[in-house]
Amino acid sequence: MSTAKKTKTKNNQQHAKDVLKILADLELNSTPHNYELFHSYVTGEKPTLAKEIRALMADSALDQSMCTKLHGRHFSGIDLTDEALLTGGKFTTEISAVMRMLSAAERNTVEYEKTLSGATDILEHVNDDKSLKNMVDTLLAATTKMQRHTQLLEQKLNKTTAEVNTLRNNLEEVRTEAMTDALTGIANRKRFDECMLQECNLAEQDEQELSLVLCDIDHFKRFNDTWGHQTGDQIIRFVASCLQRHAAKSHLVARYGGEEFAVIMPHTDEQTAFDLADNIRASVESKKLLRKSTNEDMGTVTISLGVAHFSSHDTIEDLIERADEALYRSKHAGRNKVSLSAPDQKGRSAA
Ligand code: GH3
Ligand code: MG
Ligand code: MG
Repeated sequence: MSTAKKTKTKNNQQHAKDVLKILADLELNSTPHNYELFHSYVTGEKPTLAKEIRALMADSALDQSMCTKLHGRHFSGIDLTDEALLTGGKFTTEISAVMRMLSAAERNTVEYEKTLSGATDILEHVNDDKSLKNMVDTLLAATTKMQRHTQLLEQKLNKTTAEVNTLRNNLEEVRTEAMTDALTGIANRKRFDECMLQECNLAEQDEQELSLVLCDIDHFKRFNDTWGHQTGDQIIRFVASCLQRHAAKSHLVARYGGEEFAVIMPHTDEQTAFDLADNIRASVESKKLLRKSTNEDMGTVTISLGVAHFSSHDTIEDLIERADEALYRSKHAGRNKVSLSAPDQKGRSAA
């Protein structure tokens, strides 16, 4: 190494020592910009700047924010030393790491929280004030964006949830309506068919008891002819309410046809079903009917019923057919009766 080069290296080393001493005395961090600022001061490269620094030092006014201002006024990015450029390069890498984390965070709030702690780690290694400010601004902007994004997402989710709930309620209403008989408010034939399918399957699979009661109003044509169709409707409603009142919660009372009804009784043996059917029969018979419009005494109405019990390997049609057969026997035995259909078709009657 030549004498000139040696001298230059020695000077550089001395300048570096001087700069670090000043930074330590002023309790400033050894950031590239601070280093560049005071390097210029100790070498006397920028006399105006050196003069300003001296004056500020005398007034003890040379803090970090003043250093940042001075650096901003006297240096451009191009003047950065190799070391500072190297650090700047690292910083760019770190910033882009933060940016990558932020864009990933936009997709997920949980991820965003991780981003913030990741960014904090990076911040600990970056001491440059201006760059720090940029990073904070970036984080702040990202946070605001994230908040807005989250708010919009939440609003959209709330709106969607409300719409889905309304739709679900509407569907539920439509479904209930589609399964309900308009005249009586009890289950309609469609619901009966669905329930039979379900209960027969359960009875078969789990070997559970299942009974079915079919019921038909006696001499209903006469009622209609005497009192009119509208009064006939009132009778249908009255019988439906009697059935509903006597049936258990687990039973399904349905309007099977015009003036025919059915009660599906899960977990019910034939004797219990028979007794319940007879209670219903007696209840209908016991009520004196008054014509609503004229208050005329219409006497009483009676019903005939047939009871069948599910046997293993029965089809839905088998069970309905046996209940219908029992009902037919009740009619033939004089009406206002309950008949029980045994699997061997030997029935018995009550009333
Ligand atoms: P039975 O004792 O043999 O049952 O005699 P019935 O007169 O009741 O005979 P059937 O059961 O065959 O009569 C059904 C009648 O019910 C015929 C029809 O006019 C009447 N009907 C069916 N649906 C309705 C309805 O929704 N309202 C009214 N008012 N009448 C109906
Ligand atoms: Mg009938
Ligand atoms: Mg009838």
